[in-house]
Amino acid sequence: MLGRIVISRERIDAVVGRMAAEIESDLENRDPIFIGVLKGCVYFLTDLTRRIGRPVEIDFIQASSYGASTTSSGSVVLVKDITADVRDRDVYLVEDIVDTGYTLHDLVKLIQARHPRSVQVVALLSKPSRREIELDPDFLGFEIDDVFVVGYGLDFDERYRNLPDIHEFVPDGPESS
Ligand code: 5GP
Repeated sequence: MLGRIVISRERIDAVVGRMAAEIESDLENRDPIFIGVLKGCVYFLTDLTRRIGRPVEIDFIQASSYGASTTSSGSVVLVKDITADVRDRDVYLVEDIVDTGYTLHDLVKLIQARHPRSVQVVALLSKPSRREIELDPDFLGFEIDDVFVVGYGLDFDERYRNLPDIHEFVPDGPESS
């Protein structure tokens, strides 16, 4: 059931603004393409890129999701590939949350095999205590504890993505108002 607010829309807004400024100063002399990892990235990627004061290209990739479970299976399957050619481009891989690290580890490897000039990871959330493989985002919004969260793009069984705040989700717990 939907639980307490873990990160409010105001805090998200402030941190996305800070991240956009950091990324904008990193863009000097680069040929950037922002690749969003569907579907959780959508609100984050659109808010982030709108606050970058430079024309940038966006594309999307999709890996397999957890379905109706709240734990990672540890193996990643590509569901949708990008259409852009990333050779010699500076790739910013934009993800909602890094948990065990497997998804981004595999996606970075996949992109790197296509000979980009650089690949950097941009993540809104990270749960460092859950990491099973080394993965440090180059740009990070928030570190959170080991709780399952929904909202601002993050789902449980495809629901709750459109919540403006990030909430804890407690399977079978009491609904909060
Ligand atoms: P990883 O491969 O790092 O274990 O998992 C990354 C993916 O797991 C994220 O893109 C996201 O789809 C999902 N995930 C991990 N933690 C959470 C969470 O707390 N809430 C939701 N909704 N998805 C999560």
